[in-house]
Amino acid sequence: MDETTESLDRVMVIGAHPDDPEFGCAGTVVKWARAGKSITYVLLTSGDKGSRDPNVRPGQLAAMREDEQRAAAEEIGVEQAIFLRYPDGLLENTLDLRRRLCGILRQHRPHIVMTIDPWRPYQLHPDHRAAGQAALDAIYAAREWTIFPEQLVGDVEPWRVKEAYLFWTDNADYWEDITCCIDTRISALARHASQVGENNERLAERMRQRASEAGALAREKLEQEEGYEYAEEFKRFQFR
Ligand SMILES: [Zn+2]
Repeated sequence: MDETTESLDRVMVIGAHPDDPEFGCAGTVVKWARAGKSITYVLLTSGDKGSRDPNVRPGQLAAMREDEQRAAAEEIGVEQAIFLRYPDGLLENTLDLRRRLCGILRQHRPHIVMTIDPWRPYQLHPDHRAAGQAALDAIYAAREWTIFPEQLVGDVEPWRVKEAYLFWTDNADYWEDITCCIDTRISALARHASQVGENNERLAERMRQRASEAGALAREKLEQEEGYEYAEEFKRFQFR
């Protein structure tokens, strides 16, 4: 199919921790999954430091958080979740990580990648900075014949991602109307019970509030009279 007419129907979400997709972009993912896009999650760590309880061992927590992530992914309509199991809190944009992500992009051939904006000022969490940077560097590497050429065996070829959507951004230029999907997004987020607790009404209210503010901004920026009651915002790249 010609590149310009090919539909962008394979989506990969690359996050640092289980729950990053649900906090960052899951309303859009729900909407796209319902529209027939195929969604894959890639989680770089399994969130094994995400507890302040000294009695919980990192291995136990990682297994629990992977289960929570699988449950959330299933509710959203994600086809598969891949866990790379780098250590939580210590993620770095190394050549090893970039090579692995590049190989995953070349194998799965996503048209769209969603990840964290690594250039957001004052982003404290090192994993969030590293994850976004590694994902974008892997997008660059994946399309080059000369980078990690040892991966190009059999039917594996360079792969050109068509669009990237960065969430948790201060430079949004794209808004997705998620009014249809806000309830599913919130109930998927609740699957991460080890992080958000059970029946977290205040969190649900906060998620609604933020999506409502993004929706108001979308209406203003796009000069729309209606729609966008709830929205998610992104910095979008189109690599054409
Ligand atoms: Zn995170």
